[in-house]
Amino acid sequence: MNINIITLFPEIFKSLEFGLIGQAIDQKKIHINIFNLRKNAINSYGQVDDKPYGGGEGMVLMAEPLERTINSIPNIQKGYVINMSPQGNNFSQSKAQELVKKNNITIIAGRYEGIDQRFINQYVDEEISTGDYILSGGEFAALILIDACSRFIPGVIGNKKSVDLDTFSNGLLKGPVFTRPENFNDSQVPDVLLSGDHERIKQWKENKALKRTFERRPELLNDIKLTKKQKKLLEEWVSKDIL
Ligand code: SAH
Repeated sequence: MNINIITLFPEIFKSLEFGLIGQAIDQKKIHINIFNLRKNAINSYGQVDDKPYGGGEGMVLMAEPLERTINSIPNIQKGYVINMSPQGNNFSQSKAQELVKKNNITIIAGRYEGIDQRFINQYVDEEISTGDYILSGGEFAALILIDACSRFIPGVIGNKKSVDLDTFSNGLLKGPVFTRPENFNDSQVPDVLLSGDHERIKQWKENKALKRTFERRPELLNDIKLTKKQKKLLEEWVSKDIL
């Protein structure tokens, strides 16, 4: 996957050098190309922003430096253009999966009050928000998007099964996990996990995932097709008032 980023703060993307994404970059499974907006400033003072027409708070990123920057990206590599914005479509696991299929994406990381609407109208395919809060810049939102997408790029996560079992991938939250020691401050690992009985363990994990989803995010259950067994369990929990 080829990811172009337009930003005023290229250094922030150094954090992509670590962990699984860093390895994927080294192995050329992900290409990150950073385009510094400041290089296309309108004057020798490095100006890329100006006051909003009609007054109001803060500054707005100007359309011209953005246009020059996006036009410096080779067409074949530009792909789908995304503006990170709290006013955009909600980012999600399924959106990450959808974006990875595009192979080439260009992400614009805004600052200040955002970017001139005319640039958005003319160049942006989609605006995406990482959640209902305001960040000081689109860079951190872009990092979230890149991290979540990269997990779906073949070969980035060694064990594909672990992606398939991730929270949200099958519509449910993942249940609790444990590692050594067996006893931690008088708290034992559930017996079933030490039983070696793979079928029982699988069943236990599936039930825990269902229960956790039911307790914490019941609305997610409306979006998946439940098996008869799952429906029965849910009815049982509701009737026994197990919450
Ligand atoms: N005043 C604007 C917010 C500007 S925040 C408003 O009220 O809508 C500055 C920049 O941070 C934005 O241009 C955007 O790129 C980024 N940003 C802030 N919150 C974000 C979010 N939740 N998702 C994605 N990008 C966000």
